[in-house]
Amino acid sequence: MLQQTQVVRVEGYYHRFLTRYPTLEDLASASPAMVRESWEGLGYYRRAVNLHRLAQEVVQNRAGVIPSETEELRRLPGIGRYTAAAVASFAFEREVTPIDTNVGRVLRRVFHSRARSRALARRLERSAEMLLPRGGRKAWMFNQAIMELGALVCTARVPHCGICPVRAMCQTAVREAGRTTSASPRQRAQPGRTSPQSRRQSAGGLAVRRSSGPLHR
Ligand code: SF4
Repeated sequence: MLQQTQVVRVEGYYHRFLTRYPTLEDLASASPAMVRESWEGLGYYRRAVNLHRLAQEVVQNRAGVIPSETEELRRLPGIGRYTAAAVASFAFEREVTPIDTNVGRVLRRVFHSRARSRALARRLERSAEMLLPRGGRKAWMFNQAIMELGALVCTARVPHCGICPVRAMCQTAVREAGRTTSASPRQRAQPGRTSPQSRRQSAGGLAVRRSSGPLHR
């Protein structure tokens, strides 16, 4: 439900859906029309179709057990790279980082502020792999923390570098601080005047498309 959709919009649907289909077996045995009706208004109906097919596949061919590894998860209907990593991490505490737009923005600003878009996705993945602590619970906490950092502090339009716990190692923040220091007294005295970097950030130039969607579904 959260693919391409914000939490605040999903909440009511989520609870109603679980009340109607409390188990995978309940969902698997429902008719397509019933599932569609439960999803009515939430949009992207392909997700409902895939979720229904996933429940049937797991009940009929996997003894009702959802797999915990990303490779197995990706064999299920509607599960792409991002969703597989999110389920593996948040449901099973596997050592993998789901890179959504918030996580991608933080990694890019901290480590790859000058990277070209062609090589960026792979670089973000490698950075996430290197940073991820070993040990299921630690990896889970790291993933929660970096998502929150991107959602609340390193926001798309105006990053709040002054309160950011990683600013000392952040390429973007260090470069921006250097620009401010080297600005003339007259420029510094004009609070409304911003550097080209600031203007790009304000225009969302560092944001990766939307603020809540995955880079890879
Ligand atoms: S220091 Fe600023 S740009 Fe860097 S990660 Fe923190 S909020 Fe984002």
